[in-house]
Amino acid sequence: MTHVFHRHLRRTPPRAVSANGVYIEDADGRRYLDASGGAAVSSLGHGHPDVLAAMQAQMGQLAYAHTSFFTTDVAERLADELIRTAPQGMSHAYLVSGGSEAIEAALKMARQYFVELGQPERTHFIARRQSYHGNTLGALAVGGNAWRREPFAPLLMPATHVAPCYPYREQRPDESPEQYGQRLASELEAAIVAQGPGRVIAFIAETVGGATAGVLTPVPGYFKAVRSVCDRHGVLLILDEVMCGMGRTGSLYACEQEGISPDLVTVAKGLGGGYQPVGAVLAGKHIVEAMSRGSGFFQHGHTYLGHPVACAAALAVQRVIHRDGLLGKVRDDGHRFGEWLREALGEHPHVGDIRGRGFFWGIELVADRASKRPFDPALAVNARLKGDAMQRGLLCYPFGGTVDGLHGDHVLLAPPFVATQDELREAVRLLAASVDAVTRAAA
Ligand code: PLP
Repeated sequence: MTHVFHRHLRRTPPRAVSANGVYIEDADGRRYLDASGGAAVSSLGHGHPDVLAAMQAQMGQLAYAHTSFFTTDVAERLADELIRTAPQGMSHAYLVSGGSEAIEAALKMARQYFVELGQPERTHFIARRQSYHGNTLGALAVGGNAWRREPFAPLLMPATHVAPCYPYREQRPDESPEQYGQRLASELEAAIVAQGPGRVIAFIAETVGGATAGVLTPVPGYFKAVRSVCDRHGVLLILDEVMCGMGRTGSLYACEQEGISPDLVTVAKGLGGGYQPVGAVLAGKHIVEAMSRGSGFFQHGHTYLGHPVACAAALAVQRVIHRDGLLGKVRDDGHRFGEWLREALGEHPHVGDIRGRGFFWGIELVADRASKRPFDPALAVNARLKGDAMQRGLLCYPFGGTVDGLHGDHVLLAPPFVATQDELREAVRLLAASVDAVTRAAA
């Protein structure tokens, strides 16, 4: 009997009781290699002594102070660190408790920015299909996952959804990656124009897509073209790096690899590495200045903004990443990890695509490789894979569902940055066995 309102109301998941490094142990003594870092959260693994010490010290000194009365040293230091390492042009960090909260704050900041500038007729957001920005109502409204949106659709503000950057399925055989990226940017421009001049607030996109269609890496030039389109129409660019940011792809922000800077960027997950619920919106100088010159007040706020223990954890995680050269490790070992995945699964009859960067990889499963036909959703391949992998002692993050009429089964891998090469190899070995067993049974 459970009184916890679990995600699945008819089954209770195993009870996690302890964790160390890349392993989690349950109440039955079963050990799991955490190759997805939960849902791309855990960057330093579990039980990192520096993070625990920083949290403990902060708790002893000051566990909580409401931000309508006080700022704190630790929030100031975290914001300094975030801005020191931020994409170009960012000047302030708004510190929240998670990804959806960061998205809500970014959407409202973008809207208030235009209200302050005397452009209240900008009311519309453009986002992408096959995207995920969180489960709160604003985040769902811009999110592009039909299954998650469906029951709540009547409650969601209208938004336009354009195509994601999904070359495996949507790049035409007669176009280069660059031409494909340009085509997508033109589609965005057409959507902005269709709303009418001065109506669109922002375009929001995950720099590298995560939890809806496997890892979706942008084609070269796509984001540069998107940035130009936004600039041409005075539309803000909000990048959601809740999942792909904070080092996951081998640079602190994935957009560094695209050679662009957004107006607002959201981070969470890897920011606190799972030690505390924490997220942030980094805001461009122009946004902060307009609000500061205007009303001087951001009409938003939550009880746990800038929570001191969450800030202490995030600061410690970020310092360890830099001190221990983990971005370089993620780049180098991530490259190897991708090769091992391709060696193990690249020729598998039910693996359609393997894509990713750094420690962020997605595998798309298909019933038929030649036609790219997905498995029948009734087979619940992704759910079976999750169960099978757990039986083998592996945590990976399979998901599926119908997106725009197309069912897909994907597996997301996002190991902690501290995973050794042996642990990465073991994850590949277990995953390959699981993919093989589950897809062959389903075929
Ligand atoms: N944005 C992206 C890209 C995400 O992947 C997620 C969560 O998976 C969110 C936002 C929402 O974050 P949270 O679950 O912390 O609210």
